[in-house]
Amino acid sequence: MNVALKALGVVGAGGAGFPTYVKAASQVEVYLANGAECEPLVHKDAELMEHYPAEVVGGMVRMMEMTRAQRGVFALKKKNQGAISALRPHLDAAGIELLEMGDFYPAGDEVEIVHLATGRLIPPGGLPLQVGCAVNNVETLYNVHRAAQGHAVTDKFLSVTGLVGKPSSFWVPLGTTFGDVLERAGGLREKDFALLVSGVLMGKLSFDLNDVVTKTTGGLIVLPRSHSLVTRKTTPQESQRRIGKSACDQCSYCTELCPRYLLGYDVQPHKVMRSLGFNKTGAELLNPYADLCCACGLCTLYACPEDLYPREACLDAKADLRAAGIKHQQAAPPRVHPMKDGRRVPVSQLRRRLKLEEYESAAPLVEAPAPNRVRLLLSQHVGTPARPVVLAGQRVHKGEVVARVAEQELGVDLHASIEGTVVGIGDEAIEIANEREQSRG
Ligand code: SF4
Ligand code: SF4
Repeated sequence: MNVALKALGVVGAGGAGFPTYVKAASQVEVYLANGAECEPLVHKDAELMEHYPAEVVGGMVRMMEMTRAQRGVFALKKKNQGAISALRPHLDAAGIELLEMGDFYPAGDEVEIVHLATGRLIPPGGLPLQVGCAVNNVETLYNVHRAAQGHAVTDKFLSVTGLVGKPSSFWVPLGTTFGDVLERAGGLREKDFALLVSGVLMGKLSFDLNDVVTKTTGGLIVLPRSHSLVTRKTTPQESQRRIGKSACDQCSYCTELCPRYLLGYDVQPHKVMRSLGFNKTGAELLNPYADLCCACGLCTLYACPEDLYPREACLDAKADLRAAGIKHQQAAPPRVHPMKDGRRVPVSQLRRRLKLEEYESAAPLVEAPAPNRVRLLLSQHVGTPARPVVLAGQRVHKGEVVARVAEQELGVDLHASIEGTVVGIGDEAIEIANEREQSRG
């Protein structure tokens, strides 16, 4: 089955795209399903769990078998009662526990989930495996189930919310352009738009309708380009640093509300902010306080009363640490802060603070027609990009392998997501068009 997960292209669908066959090869005590979708305005996991409970739990059972886990815990938010009702009979039959979480951010952080489910804290900078756990997003588990039936990963489940005609969740073939995705959600309701890809806090910003869906795209959120979030996310790094240097009053709210700090990890963004005023020598002393930051964005977008950029300062500091080959050594083991529970950030409060309330809506599952053309990126996962194994002009069927990663390399194979002809092969992508598109062109 491990080999199949590589050959059938399964990677983590909820994060950076780590190849799932690696996780499946480990041995753990507790296996955790992560259905705790916590970014405001992203609703695809709730829809997936409600409409495909047998597949998701089936994938979890497979992963538990492969990792020889003795205990399974399925984590999702209590507010998702539709998903809970749909999952419960399958979980009961499989002997998997249900962990109902509150509606706070970032409930989906795997460090948080491992702690809530087991009381264990992953060693600083370590992996869940070090405390006998493995965690997978629910869509990854769906893909594991499909792989067990011999199906490759060809489609992505996502939600589209914000300023579109019909906020909804649906499957689209990998490589579908954002323009085609938005059309399937009723089209843009705002000409001067910005797209937040996969989340408002941790997601990326795009203005390009030709960008394409990959194995890790969680959703598109359409906001007006003039929205304060877009303004903040487009502030040039130089300005962020300049304002931060002069305006940070060291109130330390960013640290006091940091979810990693509250779990007992030595993340202290207010100290990292001090490094903006230092040269490289001084910064070296303060940058290590960024090393265990998970980039959740709460410090920048929620905690800081001055609207500064502690998250971005931490990301810069981490890049400097990596370049210098330095890893922060936390001397004491993590100990949960006594105020942790009281300082949780409810998603409703976060939506209010980010001025997102008017864009919130349900995103019910709908059917969406496949596009006529796709552009499959060769790098959609952690590890080596896949290398094309098809030729221009070649006919391909949906699910047929079009690019491979060698057996000894970290990575997974890539498959045609629509039936058609290979119309372009570049360094970064393979393009496939169906007959309708070719006769038009
Ligand atoms: S919350 Fe803002 S002002 Fe306060 S220490 Fe952090 S960055 Fe500085
Ligand atoms: S982004 Fe900010 S709040 Fe989030 S983990 Fe990093 S330092 Fe903490």
